[in-house]
Amino acid sequence: MEQENVQCLIIGSGPAGYTAAIYASRANLSPVLYEGLQPGGQLTTTTDIENFPGYPEGTTGQQLMDDLRAQALRFGADIRAGVATAADLSGTPYRITVDDGHELLTRTLIIATGATAKYLGLEDETKYAGMGVSACATCDGFFYRKKTVAVVGGGDTACEEATYLAGLAAKVYLLVRKPFLRASKIMQERVMNNPKITVLFEHNATGLYGEDGVEGVHVVKRLGQADETRYDIPIDGFFLAIGHKPNSELFRPWLQTDETGYIITEPGTPRTNLPGVYAAGDVADPHYRQAITAAASGCKAALEAERFLKQ
Ligand code: NDP
Repeated sequence: MEQENVQCLIIGSGPAGYTAAIYASRANLSPVLYEGLQPGGQLTTTTDIENFPGYPEGTTGQQLMDDLRAQALRFGADIRAGVATAADLSGTPYRITVDDGHELLTRTLIIATGATAKYLGLEDETKYAGMGVSACATCDGFFYRKKTVAVVGGGDTACEEATYLAGLAAKVYLLVRKPFLRASKIMQERVMNNPKITVLFEHNATGLYGEDGVEGVHVVKRLGQADETRYDIPIDGFFLAIGHKPNSELFRPWLQTDETGYIITEPGTPRTNLPGVYAAGDVADPHYRQAITAAASGCKAALEAERFLKQ
């Protein structure tokens, strides 16, 4: 296997990875960045971005990521297509194997592998991707002002997204598969007391319909029970809020993670439990999950790597 020594290896090409690459290359760390399975990350699956500072007219997710990539390239970042397939962080230098046949030996490692929103697995979620199906209310809620939307899920995220959407939309249905919410009490109360939100317990979405975008959702009430009923609810937007999966599998043997798999970092920093290993962006952030917060943590990770290498 071909081996290569680097000072700073970045895995992942969302806002965290590219921002880390911009800072690390400007600090002459000659960073190598592997883009992973989805070059540009989750933002490339959304449409318009209107809340990233510096774009008064808004931009698209793809354009934002193209711009960040171009900015990293301008300062000499070595950006490569490839997916990390194995990691050995048992000693230094840290070893990462990539699917292009490389093994990289690195003194500093920035993990910016992101998280993946969970979907129900319906064919219609793919069919209507970017046409009414979203897994991020903060990103896409604005496009549903005065419209009707459905949110799927019964946890804190679902309640938070439903409440956020209720501030914009005319009507929000919360589709909960169980007869109760799993969310914290305060979030439950917020949802139950919001006149714009109707909580439909024991409801599962089975499909979507519409000509040029989502016009409604097929639901089943009390699935598998004697009184099971199927009906349609007209909606304009369908939001998934059934959890995210942080992409941390490769690193879990060596890094502290929470029960879901989010990498635990020292509060306010991207430092993990291993010196020279940093986690930036959604892989370490179950709470904010914004492009701008991911970019900020990528910046911090590169500054940490620079200081570490100077020691
Ligand atoms: P959770 O795992 O807590 O909740 C997921 C929800 O989605 C559950 O209600 C679950 O149903 C439902 N669900 C899962 N799969 C399906 C499916 N296939 N069909 C229908 N429903 C499904 O995830 P969250 O993202 O809500 O929260 C993750 C963590 O982040 C939690 O610890 C949460 O407390 C925290 N968080 C905190 C916030 C805050 O404090 N402001 C905001 C957001 C998140 P079921 O109950 O039946 O399993």
